[in-house]
Amino acid sequence: MPRETVPAAVRARAVELAEPMPMRRGSVSERSMKCGRKDCRCQHDPLARHGPYYSLTRAEGGKTRSRYLTAEQATLAREQVEAGQGFRTHLEAYWQACEQWADAQLDGPAAVSHEAVKKGASKRRSKPRSSARSTRS
Ligand SMILES: [Zn+2]
Repeated sequence: MPRETVPAAVRARAVELAEPMPMRRGSVSERSMKCGRKDCRCQHDPLARHGPYYSLTRAEGGKTRSRYLTAEQATLAREQVEAGQGFRTHLEAYWQACEQWADAQLDGPAAVSHEAVKKGASKRRSKPRSSARSTRS
């Protein structure tokens, strides 16, 4: 069987994926906190709480790892997180393009006899991989 040429859609997705950039998984959060001093206004007045404090959080193998960030770092980290989400989107698009390509291969001349069976099952809706992400904006 001759090596197939890469479909344009797959090639285009691969180019998107190959764009290196700093990116990360996780999220940046911002919050204000009470301090330990009993006489501090923050104990009773939510507006007098200290901060905001920024932190970067990421679940990693069942553990949550986090670190504090300065406001400047937080801005940068948010961009990195966004870049990571963009990468996931591109990765998903790449998967889909490759799977269409793979389907075309299955449905090609070599698989004519199986076509009737496949038609019913391949609705391209199936998401076998457990997508851990639920937040997509
Ligand atoms: Zn305080």
